[in-house]
Amino acid sequence: MNALQNNIIAQKAALPAGSKILAVVKANAYGNGLVPVAQAALRAGATGTCVAILDEGLELRDQGVTSLILVLGITPVEYAHVAAENNISLTVGDLDWLQQYHHLAQVNNWTVPLKVHLGLDTGMGRIGFTSVDQLHQAVELLKQPEFEFEGIFTHFATADSEDHTYFQKQVARWNKMIDSLKVKPPYVHMANSATGLWHQDTITANTVRMGISMYGLNPSGRELPLSLPIKPVSSLITSISFVKQLRAGESVSYGATYTAQEDEWLATLPVGYADGYERRMTGFHVLVDGQICPIAGRVCMDQMMVRLPQKYPVGTPVVLFGRSGDKEITATDVADYAGTINYEILTNISRRVRRIYV
Ligand code: PLP
Repeated sequence: MNALQNNIIAQKAALPAGSKILAVVKANAYGNGLVPVAQAALRAGATGTCVAILDEGLELRDQGVTSLILVLGITPVEYAHVAAENNISLTVGDLDWLQQYHHLAQVNNWTVPLKVHLGLDTGMGRIGFTSVDQLHQAVELLKQPEFEFEGIFTHFATADSEDHTYFQKQVARWNKMIDSLKVKPPYVHMANSATGLWHQDTITANTVRMGISMYGLNPSGRELPLSLPIKPVSSLITSISFVKQLRAGESVSYGATYTAQEDEWLATLPVGYADGYERRMTGFHVLVDGQICPIAGRVCMDQMMVRLPQKYPVGTPVVLFGRSGDKEITATDVADYAGTINYEILTNISRRVRRIYV
């Protein structure tokens, strides 16, 4: 929790005075636990939170979070009044959606204003307005009493890359659209973690949406060095559930792909791919008592085996990612081995893995 709070403080300190941070807590706070992370981020100075879908926002409201919550994805228009009733802000990416809501609000006499952030598609190609003309029509429609124009934003596709060409194209489109507005809403946001880390000079907005950097990981993997003193916030730790001595020639796990070359100590761990530690991790390693221990044989659904340098008792902690002694395995190391990105390693950790906050 301290690391999470320090990461937010580090990002805030690097932004102009008065800048705001929205903590991105979608996907169960990148696997770290929606409500505790949101509460900690808000305590550390975040102004509000971003989620992906309305249900995540409702969970936060149910748990007593009262500050701004923005749904980043598109909400089906027929559920949008639930957002309004719960003071949850929605992203809108086209005129049709606004017109439909306008109609529904009149027919159903919905009077609580819906807070809207207009999404601009400047090159991500996912959701949002691409034309200045349509944007202006949307802004006009937002003057209707059933709406409140709270924010406007875009999202970058390549802010974590060494090559700035595509990023600059997006910035130019953003600036053109934003400069064309006579009145700006209170929240103007363009920056994800990578933009907050590597493009601070380019930010023409007052709010940063802080995701992976809040969790202390590098959005670029290893392509760019971190420019802020952020630290990983989470570790994945299990403990030995069973220990045995394997005789030379004996094999381990499905497919019997691992065979002991000599007598060796083997530990079974109560964690597997159903916990989010993927089967592709077969062949990688974990840390026991500050030592690297190779995974022996295939990772199973709920268990896996590792080779020990010596006998360790049941209950000995085992680090899948995190620190042990002077060694560390980061989520980025795991991602590299699995051929993916650190985001996916965190978000894959399944619900049944107990989250402990210290
Ligand atoms: N903003 C939007 C619209 C997103 O979809 C995401 C995450 O995918 C973020 C911000 C946070 O991104 P990051 O974790 O790279 O900061």
